[in-house]
Amino acid sequence: MVRGARRPKSDFRACLEPLHTLQISWRCGRTGMGTLVDIQRGQSLLQPSFLLDGLELLAIASRLFQEGDPHGFGETTVALTLLAEQGQQQGLMAAVWYLLDVAGWLGDLSHCWQCGREAEQTMFWQHARLVCDDCGQGMPVSVGLRKSITAVLSGGHILLGAADAGRWRDMISGVLNEHGIKVTDSFKGM
Ligand SMILES: [Zn+2]
Repeated sequence: MVRGARRPKSDFRACLEPLHTLQISWRCGRTGMGTLVDIQRGQSLLQPSFLLDGLELLAIASRLFQEGDPHGFGETTVALTLLAEQGQQQGLMAAVWYLLDVAGWLGDLSHCWQCGREAEQTMFWQHARLVCDDCGQGMPVSVGLRKSITAVLSGGHILLGAADAGRWRDMISGVLNEHGIKVTDSFKGM
């Protein structure tokens, strides 16, 4: 927290661009977080063309990891790296999927999230959950799509086809909606 940082005359205003590394100095207070003394802005964490996706990612991360949660910083850093490495569209999906996974909102892609059975066939996406054909029905999630998602998340350079990319996007939007996180138009429009 930087008191008054958004005021037009604030010395810190120009430094506090999002998605940049910052070197900050502060004086510890007797209570609370103390007083910020100096900020030096370092390099940008993303290329300019990724900034909107990066802001979207930060907005989602701030909902998943609440104030006081010891988790979140490292996870968000990994997600930003995924975004930068995988490129636009697919990169944002990979990054958001990763965050949802580490936040504990997803299961693994080889087992039914309902009964736990290992599924070697097409599975289904129902109410923001991956289920086997015994447990439900809904949008088909093929073996190929599940393998592609796993590969992309581990840094593989696989470009999903338009249909699979659309399914993955729908899966992510479904999970976000289920948990009351609004997706912006930039995410819906992918
Ligand atoms: Zn099942």
